[in-house]
Amino acid sequence: MSETRHNWTKEEILAIYNKPLMELLYDAATTHRKYHDPNTVQVSTLLSIKTGGCPEDCGYCPQAARYHTDIEGNDLMSVQQVKAQALRAKSSGSSRVCMGAAWRNVKDGPEFDQVLEMVRTINKLDMEVCCTLGMITENQAKRLAEAGLYAYNHNLDTSEDYYKDVISTRAFEDRLETIDNVRKTNVTVCSGGIIGMGEKVEDRAGMLVALASLNPQPESVPINALVAVEGTPMEDIEPIPIWEMIRMVATTRIVMPKTQVRLSAGRTEMSREGQAMCFFAGANSIFAGDKLLTTPNPDVNEDMEMFKLLGLNPQKAFVKAPQPETVEASESVLQPLGEKPKWTRPGHKIERNENAKATSKLVSKD
Ligand code: SF4
Repeated sequence: MSETRHNWTKEEILAIYNKPLMELLYDAATTHRKYHDPNTVQVSTLLSIKTGGCPEDCGYCPQAARYHTDIEGNDLMSVQQVKAQALRAKSSGSSRVCMGAAWRNVKDGPEFDQVLEMVRTINKLDMEVCCTLGMITENQAKRLAEAGLYAYNHNLDTSEDYYKDVISTRAFEDRLETIDNVRKTNVTVCSGGIIGMGEKVEDRAGMLVALASLNPQPESVPINALVAVEGTPMEDIEPIPIWEMIRMVATTRIVMPKTQVRLSAGRTEMSREGQAMCFFAGANSIFAGDKLLTTPNPDVNEDMEMFKLLGLNPQKAFVKAPQPETVEASESVLQPLGEKPKWTRPGHKIERNENAKATSKLVSKD
């Protein structure tokens, strides 16, 4: 059925989301088979290369410095540590490593240079490299592309309407600007969101309108279920029923037929049967490894058992887009410009949680 469309309305998407479930599943599975092998699922490993102490206030995130969570912060990992983890991920079936740093935005300097070296190192292992580093400028996106980055993750999280209820330290348009900067390179875009944060179904549809309107649509769309973490403002929210996840995955598949739809956070709360229905509804990517940045995730062996049970095969690297070339730092034609992404909320005061910051410093010295 659906060809790629960029003009979906919220009403059309709501009508899909609210179809009788069997009809929705049939439509989504039919679309899925048209563009993808239904027995192949891409496996990514998410590595937290710099944890905690983030100045942003995303209400779902235990890494925000202002919340009192049990997260152990750490400084930026070394290139060797990242290489060792990437090799381990590759040997257990992952084709992609996604490196996450709890930064508001990238700053040109030694830490970013170190991340660029990590990108070069992993690309040379013939794995897809993804980064999620916060907001980036066009020049920073180009430098990542030159190092061999395959994908940049920058989630829209929710609808534009609900965004300010979740995050006050930046605006929805900041997200779109970073995605736009990534699109000026050959790096693919990974952008999705989280359901179960107290939003209405209309907000889920609104987020899908925003993602589907991007032209081209994101090459991958992670759909997360909120993992409520003690100490965050969303700590008391109950997990969403699996049926809502299945509906969200199926609707995403129909409105973005060619994208890889990734089952992300929240899988520990889902039964195998529930996950199988998500795969049937068009999910064709997962995060593997026992942690997703800081929240729990099924063990990789459990996932491989599930794959065997369901007859699924891990997707090989670079089947959806070619492997980027890596330009060595010494041959780079791009210079750091020392710029910062623009601040759309100049009046906002960032209230850092100094205690959490101090604790994180103590932990990282151990
Ligand atoms: S920007 Fe990222 S690390 Fe920082 S609080 Fe938000 S989700 Fe967490």
